[in-house]
Amino acid sequence: MKFIDTSYLVSLPILIALLLFLIAIIIPCALRFKKTTRALQKSETDLKIAAMAFKSYEAIMVTDADTNIIRINPSFTRLTGYTETEIIGKTPKILNSGKHDALFFKNIWDALNSKGKWGGEIWNRRKNGDIYPEWQTISAIQNEQGKVTHYISFFTDITELKKAEKEIEKLAFYDSLTGLPNRRLLHERLKHELNIAARYNRAGILFFLDLDRFKHINDSLGHSIGDLLLIETAQRLQSLLRNTDTAVRLGGDEFVILVSAQDGIHNDLLKQSNIIAEKIINEINRPFSINGHQLFISASIGITLYTGIDETVETLLKRADTAMYQAKEAGRNTFRFYQQSMQDVVDTRLHIEKNLRKAIVNSEFTIHYQPQLSASNQIVGAEALIRWQNSELGTVSPVNFIPIAEETGLIISIGQWVVESVCEQIQLFEKQGISIPHIAVNISAKQFHQADFVSNLIHTVYEQNVKPDKIMLEITEGVFLGNLEEAIDKMNALKENGFNFSIDDFGTGYSSLTYLKRLPFDQLKIDQSFVRGLVDDKTDAAIVKAIVVMAKSMDLNLIAEGVETTQHLDYLSGFGCHYYQGYYFSKPLTAKKIVEYVKNHSII
Ligand code: C2E
Ligand code: CA
Ligand code: CA
Repeated sequence: MKFIDTSYLVSLPILIALLLFLIAIIIPCALRFKKTTRALQKSETDLKIAAMAFKSYEAIMVTDADTNIIRINPSFTRLTGYTETEIIGKTPKILNSGKHDALFFKNIWDALNSKGKWGGEIWNRRKNGDIYPEWQTISAIQNEQGKVTHYISFFTDITELKKAEKEIEKLAFYDSLTGLPNRRLLHERLKHELNIAARYNRAGILFFLDLDRFKHINDSLGHSIGDLLLIETAQRLQSLLRNTDTAVRLGGDEFVILVSAQDGIHNDLLKQSNIIAEKIINEINRPFSINGHQLFISASIGITLYTGIDETVETLLKRADTAMYQAKEAGRNTFRFYQQSMQDVVDTRLHIEKNLRKAIVNSEFTIHYQPQLSASNQIVGAEALIRWQNSELGTVSPVNFIPIAEETGLIISIGQWVVESVCEQIQLFEKQGISIPHIAVNISAKQFHQADFVSNLIHTVYEQNVKPDKIMLEITEGVFLGNLEEAIDKMNALKENGFNFSIDDFGTGYSSLTYLKRLPFDQLKIDQSFVRGLVDDKTDAAIVKAIVVMAKSMDLNLIAEGVETTQHLDYLSGFGCHYYQGYYFSKPLTAKKIVEYVKNHSII
């Protein structure tokens, strides 16, 4: 019988215990070892990735928590020009372009502190001084306790991108042929303009322009000539505009001009539209010299005003387009307003202007004389007032044509005609045995400012053998505003020659004693608006009273115009006014009628 070796049995538990011990120790160790190896492998990969990333095209900059630069990558050097030795230890301030204000940087820090990151466009400066735009992202790196240890920022130069962006904008919003804004940009701008106009109660102007017979040029001379013509048209249009206005090429030979909304009364805007439209037409009418061809073209223009109220971009363009077609129908090379009422105002003006040019030659003017009297009903003078009788327009009031004559400069020849006619008439009165102490003649500012005003006047009276003291020159306060010295010189020269002066419409201008005292006036004429208000308006009565006191203290002769009733007369004489003129005594009369009138009155 074999005996079992019991010693073996004794050592078995020990062996098992040893084995268990080994298992307990070795397996975790092995596992840990495997894990560590894997972690090591991972961090090695991470490092490799980080190193690769550092080599990236994007510039990278790492700073410590105090923003001292501690690492950069080669792209950083390529982009900024700074090498590692030059930049490490510096702060990003070295890159500051100066283009951003303190608020910009405050916003960056706010984002970094609250969200741990910031991204955006920023302008930096390279080592060579160049300023360039970059796209930058900055992240704050925190440790396990949540404390910021580093900042890392990535950036790329976006100069090219921005160029491309501009190019895209150019393609999308500008016409490639002429470089003018296109229809899409017009929509944007006009929409904005309409909002502004409505919000601030302003009004602007829209011109729709179409070249006349452009197709003919295109067909006969070829598209390249047509294109050059369009390019020059665009340049000419642009040269006429202020920077706040926009010239647009809608397509083909159609252009739009947008005059931005502004304050001001409707009538001013109408006048402005008129002036601009005429300028455009004249500019387009100037011959074009293209590739050896001299081309004459014209344009038809439709105009509409806008206020932004109940108007859309589409309705406005439609209106201006409609008006443009009316201009075409009216024979081209002209402009038309969309709104009939506006058109009427412009038509009348144009009509007046056209006819006014021929009025002197056609002997359409006459002069009426309105007597001026003393309180005792004696004639002290008469005012010469021009009248215009035109076969087409009928009788036109000077209130309507004198301002146009002033704007167009026609007032110079008209004024000269009035002086000559008055002189002739004075001679005729004398021949009829009538001597009116003086005839008052209205002188407009433009006339007064003519360099030869004084010499012309002196020459005219001497030529006609009329004594200058027979003439009272009526001028309004506005004449002195621009140049007081000029007024003093001219008036003194005329005064020395015997002419007298009356200050017309007194009280409506800038009535100031400073100039009144320095100018050799003989008479002061109280404006009819105050006379009209005398009875009902306490202020008007007070003004008249003050004017009387002022005139007396300055030794000026005082006359009131627009005296229509006994009440007016009573008030005025009560204040101490010297002379009167108005319907109460007589309306302006023809030369023939005033002769009768004078015969029935005594002369002072
Ligand atoms: P003004 O110089 O203030 O002339 C007075 C105007 O008042 C005249 O109007 C006259 O007819 C009108 N008038 C006179 N008495 C009365 C009245 O009792 N009641 C009312 N409601 N009106 C009265 P008119 O003739 O239509 O002239 C208007 C303006 O045209 C003149 O105002 C003057 O500024 C201008 N004007 C007239 N003739 C000439 C001229 O020969 N040369 C220039 N430069 N301007 C002229
Ligand atoms: Ca007058
Ligand atoms: Ca007057």
